[in-house]
Amino acid sequence: MSDEVINTAGSPRIIARPEHVISRVNISESALKVLYRLKSSGYEAYLVGGGVRDLLLGREPKDFDIATDAHPEEVAGLFRNSRLIGRRFKLVHVRFGREIIEVATFRSGHEEKGTDETHAEDGMILRDNVYGNLEQDAWRRDFTINSLYYSVKDFSVVDYTSGMEDLEAGVLRVIGDAEQRYIEDPVRMLRAVRFAAKLGFRIHKDSEKPIFELSERLESVPPARLFDEILKLFMSGYAVATYELLRHYDVFRHLFPMTDDCLAEAENHFPHTMILRGLENTDARIAEGKPVTPAFLFAVLLWEPVHSRAKRLQGEGLSEIQALQQAGDEVVSLQALHIAVPKRFSLQSREIWAFQARLKRRNGKRAARLVEMSRFRAAYDFLLLRIESGEDEYKALGDWWTEFQESDEVTRGSMASEAPSVGGKKRRRRRRRKTDNTSSD
Ligand code: ATP
Ligand code: MG
Repeated sequence: MSDEVINTAGSPRIIARPEHVISRVNISESALKVLYRLKSSGYEAYLVGGGVRDLLLGREPKDFDIATDAHPEEVAGLFRNSRLIGRRFKLVHVRFGREIIEVATFRSGHEEKGTDETHAEDGMILRDNVYGNLEQDAWRRDFTINSLYYSVKDFSVVDYTSGMEDLEAGVLRVIGDAEQRYIEDPVRMLRAVRFAAKLGFRIHKDSEKPIFELSERLESVPPARLFDEILKLFMSGYAVATYELLRHYDVFRHLFPMTDDCLAEAENHFPHTMILRGLENTDARIAEGKPVTPAFLFAVLLWEPVHSRAKRLQGEGLSEIQALQQAGDEVVSLQALHIAVPKRFSLQSREIWAFQARLKRRNGKRAARLVEMSRFRAAYDFLLLRIESGEDEYKALGDWWTEFQESDEVTRGSMASEAPSVGGKKRRRRRRRKTDNTSSD
C-alpha cells in the first residue's frame, strides 16, 4: 500500500470530521483565533504541517503552523500582534504572549525546476516565494505526512499527497522525486532523519536511498541555517535516535567532520560512548523538563577533536590548560565553516573544555573559588560524563568534587588543604598523584 506511486493529479482525499481524531480542544486557542479571523475575513485558512501530523498521531504539537491564501501584508493587517518576517520567504508571526503562530501564504513549488533564476546551478532553491493555491502548496511541502490540512470551514482534513496512508503505515515519504527534492534543499535530508527519529517512522526506500549519495550537499547549506537544524536535531528529546540515524546514513560526517574523523580512527569505543552518554543525558533532561544548553551539546560533540589536538599540543610543550584553550579555539573556528554556532555558546563550550584542566588544581583556596564560577557546574557534569564514558583515571577526581560540593565549609577546608598543589607531590596516594599530574590527558 505504502509503496504505491503517488497520484499527483486530481482532487484531494477529504477526511471528514467524524473520520479523524483531530478535535478543536487540542488546538491552541491562539491558533484557533487566527484561523477564525482569517476565515471571517473571507480567506481560506488551514492548520498544516507538524501541528496536524502530531494531532493525528495523538501527540502534543510543538507549535501550530497555518496556511492561507491571504498575502503576508493582508495577514499582518488583520492582527495587531503580528510581525512580518522573511528569512527564506515571507511569513507572518502572530504573537499571543509567549506563543507564536506562524502564518504562511500558499506557495507554489518547483515546477519551473532548474530553468529560472530561482535555482542555483547545483539545483538548490534560492528563492521560494511564488504564491500559489492550496493544491500547489500541498505539493511543494517536504513529506506527505507534513502536507495534511485541517480546515476550520468544515473541520475536515484535506490530503493531496496520500499523507494519511503514510501516517497510518508509519512511513516518511518525500513528496515527488526524492533526489530532486533533496538537491533543491539538502536540509530536507536532515528533516527526514529528524522526523524518522522523533516519530519512530521508517523512511520510505525511495526517499532514503538518495540520502546516501547526496548528503555531501549539506556542505553547501549556509552554516547559520544548519545551526538552527542542529538544535532541532539534538535538542528535541530524540537526540540518541537522531545521532544513530545520522551516522547510519553517513550524514553526520558532513555536519561534524572533525568528530567523524575521530570516530573513524578510534580504536576503543570511547568517543562514540561519550557522545551517546551526552545525548542520553540531553534526552533525559528534556524528558524531565530540565533546561539544556547548546553550549554543553557542542562541548560534547566536539570534545574528541579538541581532546586529541590538546594532547598533541601538550606533547609540543604547552601546559594542559593552554593546550585545551588553543585546541578549543582551533576546533571552534574549523567547525564554524560548517555550523555557525553563535559566540555566546561556543565561548561557553571552550570554557567547559579548559575547565577540565582547572578542575585538577583544587588545593588551597582554588576549589572554593572554582565552585563559585559560572561554568563550574557544566564543567563538573562534563567531567562526570568523561568518567562514565570510560576515562576511569578521573574517577577519584570526580568523586572528590562530588564530595566537596556536598560538604560543609570546615570539611571543604580540610579537603582543599589536603589536595595536591599543581605539580606538587605532597600527601597523595600514588594512584591519586598520577591522576592529578598526569600529562597523558
Ligand atoms: P516541527 O515543528 O514539529 O518540528 P514541522 O513539520 O511543523 O515539525 P516546521 O519546520 O515547523 O516543521 O515546518 C512546517 C511545515 O512546513 C512542514 O510540516 C512542511 O510541510 C513545511 N516545510 C518546512 N520545511 C520545509 C522544507 N525545507 N521543504 C519543504 N517543506 C517544508
Ligand atoms: Mg511546526
